[in-house]
Amino acid sequence: MDRILALKAVRGTRDTLPEEAEGWSDIEALSRRILQTYHYREIRTPIFEETGLFVRSIGETSDIVTKQMFTFLDRKGRSITLRPEGTAPVVRAYLEHNLQREGSLGKLFYIGPFFRSERPQAGRGRQFHQIGAEAIGSPDPALDVECISVLLHLFRDLELGELEVHLNSVGCKKCQPEYKEVLLQYLRGKIISLCPDCQSRLERNPLRALDCKRERCRSIAGEAPVLMEYLCPSCSQHFKEVQAHLNDLQIPYRLNPHLVRGLDYYTRTAFEVTHPKLGAQNALAAGGRFDNLIEEMGGPSTPAVGFAVGLERIILARGGKLTTPARELIIYLAPAGAEAHRQSVKLLHELRRRGIKSEMDYQKRSLRGQLRLANRFKAKYVAIIGEREVREKVVSLKDMRSSQQEEIALSDVVGVITQKEASDLEPVDLERPPILG
Ligand SMILES: [Zn+2]
Ligand SMILES: [Zn+2]
Repeated sequence: MDRILALKAVRGTRDTLPEEAEGWSDIEALSRRILQTYHYREIRTPIFEETGLFVRSIGETSDIVTKQMFTFLDRKGRSITLRPEGTAPVVRAYLEHNLQREGSLGKLFYIGPFFRSERPQAGRGRQFHQIGAEAIGSPDPALDVECISVLLHLFRDLELGELEVHLNSVGCKKCQPEYKEVLLQYLRGKIISLCPDCQSRLERNPLRALDCKRERCRSIAGEAPVLMEYLCPSCSQHFKEVQAHLNDLQIPYRLNPHLVRGLDYYTRTAFEVTHPKLGAQNALAAGGRFDNLIEEMGGPSTPAVGFAVGLERIILARGGKLTTPARELIIYLAPAGAEAHRQSVKLLHELRRRGIKSEMDYQKRSLRGQLRLANRFKAKYVAIIGEREVREKVVSLKDMRSSQQEEIALSDVVGVITQKEASDLEPVDLERPPILG
């Protein structure tokens, strides 16, 4: 064995093979359609950005910035980072391209890969994929609720079953400091029981201890004073309105005072959607308001709210499998001999130009071998073109479902197949297109 080149995907990354990739693109297509229904428009930002963008937006003390980023120097010595999350790049693009100039709401969504150097485990790769959306430009609590309802709409159509919405408010610049002081008092009394990370960042950001995944910190966090009781009047009013809209839309939710988001920029509403298969530590989707981020990034003071969904989490919630059977081929051409091969290449070209999904033999298989392959490709028809057929300018068209065979003129094949396909079209259920085989 050659040990120099392993020729394997890097740890924490994986290949998505065709039968899975088709399922992924179904989920992506469904997400696009639903997000567009809620009037979000797609944005595609680069895979890498200047490191400073993430340090500034996510916060220097966050786990993402201190431990998880893939950061490297480019050839000119600039620090570059593979994007670990989607909000900062979207806000950067929003500001860079002046998307606020029309004065309307910026409603943007993205689908793509993100990168964090974590210990790989089920549903958490070092390259992972998210669908996210941001509504930039309004403090209206109805938008917070819109984020939750678009998620639930998506998960309903993905048939994910029973889900739970966890809701909290993490306050604003005005009320957070008072709460932080109270929390700090409480945590200082427990400092020896906290994990080293939480100890070291306690004074800078005590909120992190509430979000720490370590068992010892979690039990301390469980007893901590809750932010909900320290909200200022306007945050409290905002939170009430979020809940009123959720009630109006009959969206069940659970108040969770211990829900804080891991990133510095969150304000007011914080939410997570959890699935029983994933457990509380593995939310299917998470989001919230970030009313200060845009200003902190150098833009005008602009309220915003958004969310992100983990695609791998969706797949885990569906049972960890995402295989779609190979999709059917309309016609497979089975030539025998050089002249038949040549005629097949021409016919295939014509079929494909008419949008008919078709394939031919390129491996000089026997007729029996070709029919076997056509079956595996789920071909509806096979056109057999042997020496006699070439001489008589015909093909033997075999219907693979009925096994019936008819002889038609070579020049009629495209027309006949087009006609058969048109009469074969089943009515499409537009409301609920078939997803994932
Ligand atoms: Zn407040
Ligand atoms: Zn901790």
